[in-house]
Amino acid sequence: MQSDVATIVLTAKQAREKWQSFSVEERCQFLQKLPELLQKNQEELARLIVTEMGKTITQAKEEVVDCIQDINDNITQAKKYLTERIIFEDEKNIGKIIFEPWGVAAVIAPWNYPLEMPIWGIIPNLLAGNTVVFKPSEYTPLCGQKLADLISQLNLPEGVFNIIVGGKDIGAQLVDSDIDYVWFTGSAKVGQEIYAKAGKKFIKATLELGGSSPAIVFSDVNVDSIINELYNARFSNCGQVCSALKRLFVHESIFTEVVEKLKNRIAQVKPQTDMGRLVSEKQLNLLEAQVQDAINKGAKVIIGGKRPENLSGPYYLPTLLTNIIKNMRVYQEEVFGPVLPIMPFDTKEEAIQLANDTIYGLTAIVYSQDKKLAEEVASKIKAGRIGVNTNHYFNSDCPFGGYKKSGMGREHGEFGWYELTQIKHIHLKK
Ligand code: NAD
Repeated sequence: MQSDVATIVLTAKQAREKWQSFSVEERCQFLQKLPELLQKNQEELARLIVTEMGKTITQAKEEVVDCIQDINDNITQAKKYLTERIIFEDEKNIGKIIFEPWGVAAVIAPWNYPLEMPIWGIIPNLLAGNTVVFKPSEYTPLCGQKLADLISQLNLPEGVFNIIVGGKDIGAQLVDSDIDYVWFTGSAKVGQEIYAKAGKKFIKATLELGGSSPAIVFSDVNVDSIINELYNARFSNCGQVCSALKRLFVHESIFTEVVEKLKNRIAQVKPQTDMGRLVSEKQLNLLEAQVQDAINKGAKVIIGGKRPENLSGPYYLPTLLTNIIKNMRVYQEEVFGPVLPIMPFDTKEEAIQLANDTIYGLTAIVYSQDKKLAEEVASKIKAGRIGVNTNHYFNSDCPFGGYKKSGMGREHGEFGWYELTQIKHIHLKK
């Protein structure tokens, strides 16, 4: 298998020069039929997502639609951000910037959005002029292969796009191989390993990792107006979202009301049809161990806290936990499933301290009618993206990425494009 990885990377290496010789517009031309191909294959793609990863068919179809939008946005943005530009000029000199691809990009993806995470890596890399060796998650190889089949219909020059299927050993071999750049989305643990290897090889790595995102709810909030948003922030995709709400801090004056109303919202959920399942029994075992640890240390289960009866497969009931203390695993670790620990706070300072009391720093949400207060708190939370009175902040123009162990670098929008290339300054005498 080792030689397979080396051979594929060599193929990608040999294709570099040709792919880089195309202009950004020409690369966009190659890729512009992909949204239509996804559209035509929406049903099949969605079924593969459901089978391999367990989300509901409605959510799976939405993922395909989001991918179509992502690709169209990428094509528009590549033309805007990757074309040569003048950054300095006086009577005697002109300073130009050109964007030069790194070379072979390893794109290593997780399973939780088995189509969209690969697309976030593959498409910008190709448009930027990198050749790509893509490794899907071992949990979602068929989704990865189907995407590769669709990309193969674009008639890219040979070796520009490649797929290699396998588990963590293959991923490790890919990172060890003769690549020029690594674009990794996955856990902080693996991200750290990859970062160390990239450092040794002295190649660039963009790392999009896990999170334990907080939401802070101040006392002046109309609780009814945020319950659905809090529910979606934690429980969509069965809680398996990097940027999901994973620790909720509520002002003590409205704590009971928020817990009660979230409980009522959750009581309406039908696990199989509304939420889907966890990706695997292994993931469910980890989740159960985290919840059990909390219960052993005194946490109270408000609702859920177990598997649903009469459903086989890795399903888990949406769960609220209170009486949280800081040495519980649900407070300290990333919880990748439908479980929400909730804690009261008294002062603004305490809320900020709790929000930042994590090794992660991907996203956060702050709710308050006092916009000045909310913005001040947002500015003090150590995370790459903060929603103020909203959790609807995904937009391909806005950068996404983490502080601390949530990542290194940014994707999306202007700042994302600058990860994917060398920035070369050419200074010309007039
Ligand atoms: P993971 O780190 O276990 O695996 C991710 C990918 O890395 C898989 O393809 C896997 O085969 C590969 N891999 C595993 N070990 C490797 C190694 N030593 N060298 C190279 N490759 C290796 O993560 P996962 O369980 O697939 O995904 C869930 C994690 O991903 C969560 O922590 C989640 O928060 C995170 N995530 C982050 C983002 C983001 O944008 N920040 C998005 C989605 C998921």
